Amino acid sequence: MNNVLPDYSHAKGETHRGLFLRYLLILIGLLICTTSPARKKHTDPPFSPALQQLYAKTDHAPYHLRHAPVIGISTTYSHGSLSAGYDCVKAIHQAGGIPILIPSTNDPTLLDAIIRKMDGVLFTGGVDVDPSFYGHDRHPQLGSVNNERDTFELMLFRKAFERGIPIFGICRGMQLINVAMGGTLVQDIPSELTSDIRHLQEERGTQGTHSVNIEKGSTGARMFGQTTLSVNSFHHQCIQRPAPQLKVTGRSPDGVPEVVEGYPKHKIFGVQFHPEIFAARDNDATMKRFFSFLIEECKQ
Ligand code: MN
Repeated sequence: MNNVLPDYSHAKGETHRGLFLRYLLILIGLLICTTSPARKKHTDPPFSPALQQLYAKTDHAPYHLRHAPVIGISTTYSHGSLSAGYDCVKAIHQAGGIPILIPSTNDPTLLDAIIRKMDGVLFTGGVDVDPSFYGHDRHPQLGSVNNERDTFELMLFRKAFERGIPIFGICRGMQLINVAMGGTLVQDIPSELTSDIRHLQEERGTQGTHSVNIEKGSTGARMFGQTTLSVNSFHHQCIQRPAPQLKVTGRSPDGVPEVVEGYPKHKIFGVQFHPEIFAARDNDATMKRFFSFLIEECKQ
């Protein structure tokens, strides 16, 4: 019977040698990967010293933003060009998000594809929203409107809302959100409301010119960590009737809505002032909380 049993002793020796060779090959592979091509790429000729320096900086960038939330920023199309305020880009980056500019388009298929790549959306400041979108006639004091931007942003809102991702708005962005959800706007504060506050300030953007009182226990109060803010003001319009799913949780002393939110049901938040100017230009700790809150909401 013994002579029919196979002898494994020789094969075992082969296995150990095979394993050793395999590990050796992996080690050599790792050494090759961590030394040459990629690491030396930026010093290869015929790159100029300036280009070498630039590539060295590019190749050694840290990875900490790789999995950060992607925040889409709405842009303006005008005369063949796209534009967006740089302060929003900077403020989102500072807060640990990846800012991406969303190109203006009225193609719902493209918007659907774009929104699927986003973790959140920020609607920015700009010109007046066309009152036809909230069913009102044009007031004589209505400012300029941009139909491309209105249709783009209203469609973008609809797609983002459908996806359930956080939607935040600044100035016109907050008004746009209100219109998109069925609310209305005051077309010109000075001619339609009685107020002793100048909402279209002449002072620079880093200067607060009026206060805002935020409702205790609201998302706004939690976001800013306080219930009184000193804010800048660059608007001649404001929310008239809030949309059914939005709640005004912050007002200036004259009663003008300055903070609205869709919480707790919808991750929707808007401010009438410009926190991005304070955050990006003055590194303002309170206003930076608007952006860190947005980033945190997008992570969940
Ligand atoms: Mn104001």
